[in-house]
Amino acid sequence: MTKLEQATAADRRHGARPSVVAEYDAVVVGAGFGGVYAIHRLRQLGLNVIGLEAGADVGGTWYWNRYPGARCDVPSLFYSYTWSPELRQEWRWTEKYAAQPEILRYAQHVADRFDLRSLIRFETRVTSAEWDEASQRWTVRTDRGDRITAAYCVMATGNLSVPNKPDLPGLDRFRGAIYHTGQWPHDEVSFSKLRVAVIGTGSSGVQAIPLIAKAASRLTVFQRTPNYSVPARNAPLSDADVAAAEPVIAKYRESLETPEFGRVPSNAFEAPVPEKQVQWARYQQLWDQGGGGILTAFPNILTSEAVNDVACEFVRDKIRGIVKDKATADALSPKDYPLGVKRICIDTDYFATYNLPHVELVDLREEPLKTVTETGVETATRSFALDALVLATGYDAMTGALAAMDIRGGDGTSLKDAWADGPSTYLGLMVSGFPNLFVVTGPGSPSVIGNVIHACENHVEWITACLDTMRTKGLTRIEPERDAERSWMAHVADAASRTLYPKANSWYQGANIAGKPRVFMPYVGQGYRHRIAQIAQRDYEGFVMR
Ligand code: NAP
Repeated sequence: MTKLEQATAADRRHGARPSVVAEYDAVVVGAGFGGVYAIHRLRQLGLNVIGLEAGADVGGTWYWNRYPGARCDVPSLFYSYTWSPELRQEWRWTEKYAAQPEILRYAQHVADRFDLRSLIRFETRVTSAEWDEASQRWTVRTDRGDRITAAYCVMATGNLSVPNKPDLPGLDRFRGAIYHTGQWPHDEVSFSKLRVAVIGTGSSGVQAIPLIAKAASRLTVFQRTPNYSVPARNAPLSDADVAAAEPVIAKYRESLETPEFGRVPSNAFEAPVPEKQVQWARYQQLWDQGGGGILTAFPNILTSEAVNDVACEFVRDKIRGIVKDKATADALSPKDYPLGVKRICIDTDYFATYNLPHVELVDLREEPLKTVTETGVETATRSFALDALVLATGYDAMTGALAAMDIRGGDGTSLKDAWADGPSTYLGLMVSGFPNLFVVTGPGSPSVIGNVIHACENHVEWITACLDTMRTKGLTRIEPERDAERSWMAHVADAASRTLYPKANSWYQGANIAGKPRVFMPYVGQGYRHRIAQIAQRDYEGFVMR
C-alpha cells in the first residue's frame, strides 16, 4: 500500500483524515481537466504522483459552477479530451452545448475509467509550495496539515477558479441569500416567488439570467458593462453530428494547429476588408448557425477595426430587433469596445428575457449602485427590495489561484512578489527562479482563448514528454532562462498589441480586479502548439536542464 492509500484507508476507518507526510516524484495541484490528465500521464510515466484538490470531487470549474444555465460555450464534441480514442467512442454527449451536470459527469467518468481517484486527495487546499535547492525538491503544504515533498510540482489550478467578490458597500448587512456563480451551493437553490437581483452580465450572468427570470417573481439585473452575446442555438446531438465530428477531432489530434475561435490566424494582417454587405451576410449566416463562429467570420475580425465595427453594429442591430423597450435595448448594446476582445457570451434567450414584464435592467453607468442594505440595494435614485442577490462578478483570472498560495523559489522569492508587476512565464509553462514547477495553461500561453480542454492537453503532453526526456538523459532539474522568459513575454505583449484585444477592460488583462497590474495575459499570436513542439525538438531551447 502506498502512503496515500494508507492515509485514505485510515480516513475511511476513522471518519477523519490524518495529515500526510510523504515523498512523491510529482505533485499535481488541482483536479480539473488539466490536473486529472496530468495525474494520468505522470502515472503512465511510472512516476509516483499525488493530486491535491480543494473540491470534494474532480471537475475543477465544473465542480464549482453549478448556477442555473451553466453550460459550455464550446461545442461539447470538441470540449472533450482527445487523447483517448476509446474514451471518445464510449462517451456520448447529449447536447450541442453540454450543461454543467453532464460535463461534471464526464470528468467523473474519466477519473473512474482511468482509475485516478485513488491518487487524489480531495477537500485539501494547498497553502504553500517551497523549492529547496539542497534537496532539489518542492515541499507542498496543505490546509489539512499535509507536508508533501516532490521533485516536480504541476500547478493545474485553473484560470477561472478564484471568485471575484466585489467590495460593494453594505454587502455584509444584506439579510437575504447571497450567491456567487462561481461557488454555487450543491443543494438545489429555488428562486420561486423571490425578488432576485443579478449583478454582472458576463458569460455567467448571461447564462443564469434567463433561467433565474423563469423562477423569480421579480428579477433586477445590475449591469455595469454590456456584453456582446450571440445565440447558442443549442440542440440535442444526433448520431450524424457525432460521426461528423470524429474525423475533425482525429485530424486535430495529429496536427499542431490551433484552429479555435478567439485566435488570430496567421493571414489576419494581410486579409482584405470585405464590403459591408458581404460582412453582414456572413454574420447573419453565423448568427443563424449559433455559437462563437462569428469570431471566425473573417481572418481579420480581431485585428481590423473596419471589419470588427461592422460585426459590432450587426450584433447591436440584433439586440434592437429582440428587445422591445428602446432604452433597455440601447443600454444592453456594447458601444465602447470591439466584439470578441472580451470573451464573447453565448446565450439562450438572454436579450429576449428583458421583454418579460417582471425583469428590469438597471444601467449602473447611469444609476450607480450606492449601497446594499439589509433588505435590498440602493442606487443613486432608487431602492430595490430583494430576497436574494446573485453575484455573477467573475474571477481573479489567470493569476488568482497561483497568488493565493505562498509559492517560493530557491532564493526564497515568492511568486506573488516576482509577479508584482504582472505575470511572467516562459511559454506560459514555467517561471525562471522556480525550477521544476510547471503551470498548466499559465499566463503567456493561449489558455483561455479558445478551447481550454485542448489547451490543458497540449500543456500536459508537453510537460510529461519533457520529464520523460529528462529521465532518459539522466537530468532532474529544469528552469527557463531569464532572457528566454523576458523575450517570450515581450512577444506575448507584442502579439496582443497587434490586435484589438487590448481595447477592452477585460479580465484578460486584469482590468476587473482593483490594483491588479494591467498585463495582457493570454497569448493570442499564431502557431503556439507548433512553436512549443519545436522548442522541445531543439533540445528545450530557452530552458536550462541539468
Ligand atoms: P466576467 O466575464 O468577468 O463578468 C463579470 C461581470 O460582473 C461583468 O459584467 C462585470 O462588469 C460585473 N462586475 C464585476 N464587479 C462588479 C461590480 N463591483 N459592480 C458591478 N458589476 C460588476 O465573469 P463571468 O461572467 O463569470 O465569466 C468569466 C469567464 O468565465 C468568461 O469570460 C468565460 O471565459 C468563462 N465562462 C464561460 C462560460 C461558458 O463556457 N459558457 C460560462 C461562464 C463563464 P464589468 O465588465 O464592468 O467589469
